[in-house]
Order: sequence, then C-alpha cells, then structure tokens
Amino acid sequence: MLDNLRDAVRKFLTGSSSYDKAVEDFIKELQKSLISADVNVKLVFSLTNKIKERLKNEKPPTYIERREWFIKIVYDELSNLFGGDKEPKVIPDKIPYVIMLVGVQGTGKTTTAGKLAYFYKKKGFKVGLVGADVYRPAALEQLQQLGQQIGVPVYGEPGEKDAVGIAKRGVEKFLREKMEIIIVDTAGRHGYGEEAALLEEMKNIYEAIKPDEVTLVIDASIGQKAYDLASKFNQASKIGTIIITKMDGTAKGGGALSAVAATGATIKFIGTGEKIDELEVFNPRRFVARILGMGDIETILEKIKEVENYDKMQKKMEEVISGKGKLTLRDVYNQLIALRKMGPLSKLFQLLPGIGMLGQIPEDQLKVGEEKMRKWLAIMNSMTYEELDNPSIIDKSRMRRIALGSGTEIEDVKELIEHYNLMQRTIKMLKRRKKDVEKLLGQF
Ligand code: GDP
Ligand code: MG
Repeated sequence: MLDNLRDAVRKFLTGSSSYDKAVEDFIKELQKSLISADVNVKLVFSLTNKIKERLKNEKPPTYIERREWFIKIVYDELSNLFGGDKEPKVIPDKIPYVIMLVGVQGTGKTTTAGKLAYFYKKKGFKVGLVGADVYRPAALEQLQQLGQQIGVPVYGEPGEKDAVGIAKRGVEKFLREKMEIIIVDTAGRHGYGEEAALLEEMKNIYEAIKPDEVTLVIDASIGQKAYDLASKFNQASKIGTIIITKMDGTAKGGGALSAVAATGATIKFIGTGEKIDELEVFNPRRFVARILGMGDIETILEKIKEVENYDKMQKKMEEVISGKGKLTLRDVYNQLIALRKMGPLSKLFQLLPGIGMLGQIPEDQLKVGEEKMRKWLAIMNSMTYEELDNPSIIDKSRMRRIALGSGTEIEDVKELIEHYNLMQRTIKMLKRRKKDVEKLLGQF
C-alpha cells in the first residue's frame, strides 16, 4: 500500500542527486503513493503544497541537514493527514467497561472482538465476549472458537433470535462474574449505503445494555467511502470510536484512514491481518513513522530534540554570561547530557556569540572525558534537586552520601564541584571581558 514510501525516504536521504531534484522526485513519489492508496486527490495536493510552503518559509536548525529536515516536515504533515497528535485511549478509565461492536457484515467485527479480547487479556484484564449475532447461523460458533483459542469465556444462546435480549443477559451475567471488560459482538446485517438502518440497530442494543463505548468497525477496502459512514456515526455517538480492519490487504487503506481522520472521529485500532494478534493501537505519528521507516524517523527526531536541548542550554549560558541568570549544577547536568552527544564541552564556549573572539578560554580544563562524564552523571543523579540548584550546601557529609549513592569516590564528587566552581569563575571572567569589549567597542 504505502510500503514504497520507506524506500523513497531511504533513497532521498542517501541519494546522490541534487537536493532540489531529490525533493521534487520525493514529492512526486509521495503523491503517487497516496493517490494509489486511495487518499483523496485534493487532500494529497493540499498536503504537498503545505510541504512546499514550509520548505520555502522554514529553515533547518543548525546541525540538522536539509534532507533530514525535509523528511521531518513530511513526517509532520503526513501525521496531520492521518489524525495529527490524537492518541487513542485504549485502557478504560473505569471498570467494568462494556464495549459494543457495530458495523456492516463481513467487515471483521467478530474477528476484531476476538482480537480485542486477546489484547485486553494480555494487559491483565478479565475479559468476557458476548455473541449477539442472531442472523448468521455460524456466528456464535466462530466467536466461541476464538474465545477458546485465547482462553476467554463466550456468552451465547444458540437458537435464540432476540439479539437485544442476548446482549442484555450476556452483559448482566459477566457483570455478576466480575468481568472487567465485556465485548459485545453484533450482527450488522446491512450493506453500505444503509447507514440509517445500521445506526437504528445500534440504538436498540445500545438502549438495552448502555455500553461505555460503541466501536464502529470499518473495512479499509471501502477507501474514501469510509468518510460518510464515519461522520454519521461520529455525530450519532458521543462515546464512539472506530476500528479500521483489513489495512493489510488493500490498496485503499490510506484512503479509509485519512477519510475517517478527516471526520474527527477517534480511530482506536487498525486490523492488519486475519490472525488474533494482528491488531494495532492506532497512533497517527507512530503509523506514519512506520510507513516512512521507523529507524530513519527516530534518528531524525532524536537529533532535532538534541539540538533543541542544545539551543536551550546555549540560551541559558548567554543569560548567565550577560548577568541575567545563575549557573546551577542542574544546568551543568543538562549540558553534560546534551554535550555527550554534541561534542566536547569547550565547543559550547566557542559557539557563544562574541565569545570566540575573546580567546584565551581555558579550553583544556573545560574538556571532560567520556569516562568522567559517566561518573559525573551518576553523581548528579544521586543529588537532590536542592543540591543541584545550590551546590554550595554540599558539605563533607553530603559528599559522602552522594558518593555512596552513585558508587563513586568522595574525590570524584569533589572534582565535579571543582569543575562547577571553575565554570563559575570562567563565567565571571567572561562577563568581565564582555564588559571590557563593550567598553572598547563603545569608544568607536
Ligand atoms: P463480521 O461479519 O463483521 O463479523 O466479520 P468477520 O469477523 O467474520 O470477518 C470477515 C472476514 O474478514 C474473515 O475472513 C476475517 O478473517 C477477515 N478479517 C477480519 N479482520 C481482518 C484484517 O484485519 N485483515 C484481514 N486480512 N482480514 C481480516
Ligand atoms: Mg460476525
């Protein structure tokens, strides 16, 4: 479906063609993939226009390569297309919790009921399944087989024709047995285009069992048509969530997904195969990261986060040097963490505007080796916030406690505090120099 995007990302990041050409090729490939996944054409073009717009108006942060930054933008905008930052709540906020599944016949309700039961059972809940499909003779048997396979009890009444009655009695029985999550499978005998009838049936069972959640099951192969169904359902049910099944077997999955996301409905899970464990919590960002290549996306996101931390730290140092802030050990701690990935500590001073030209910074003394850094991080992990914010209170007995807690020697703790004091002195010196330079510059 959207599988070829992963290769496109790889090719884009490692390819040898010029940046502009690579961007152009990638955007074409993106459009092609999305349209063939049945995503609405208008949505596709508005997405790629937005990407181009951002490319024009935004600049990659320092240290982030243009190509990586571009993929980050694609990742952001694609995530928005599939629902943005919406994170479905899959762990119920109360117990017992009753979930009722509705949807057109053949979409995968019964299969999904089994998958859900398995999902929650694995999370440690006591789960019960209720089979209220009275139209298909083998429906109950199908559910019972699934229940047996995963060790979850199934309630059903073979031969009984009253679906509402079965649902009611099943839920009541499981409530008496202290089941924590009860999943009700229904018939949904109507075809697409009969949303009204489907919603009517939903209402009848709903009134009888008053579930905590109604879940509409949609088959991904209907593509963009999912929009109508989902938006009507979303209007009718305040406690409604959506599961899209058969994401694996169709080219139209992207269409169904983006169409449903466009209605504002919460997509809770997606079904990705016939097997009992082929159900995934749907999180737009994670989903997009996967189709673009999880490894590449995670690397880029991590880098960007590091740079943000680094920028924050730099700003803090600028404040400290200009006299607006105070340097605490907590800052040193954050610096060490950021610098561990970014380079030697002395770099920080070179990067500060106007500082490089001042020269004569005791660089060697500011360099910290990897081994020492590990020790210092351990030491700072053993300090209280009070000690980090105000290192002058660290006396002998505190030092002993910290050394013990971090598995280091008192000497190591002392050394760290000396390093901190050295930084303080350096900052004082820099402040003085900055003033000198300003005075000097002021004369011109
Ligand atoms: P119901 O009529 O809505 O209860 O649908 P069923 O649960 O009986 O499923 C209908 C068919 O869809 C069965 O053959 C299932 O194995 C299949 N199915 C359900 N979910 C998925 C899925 O996520 N992926 C694939 N490939 N098949 C699925
Ligand atoms: Mg069924």
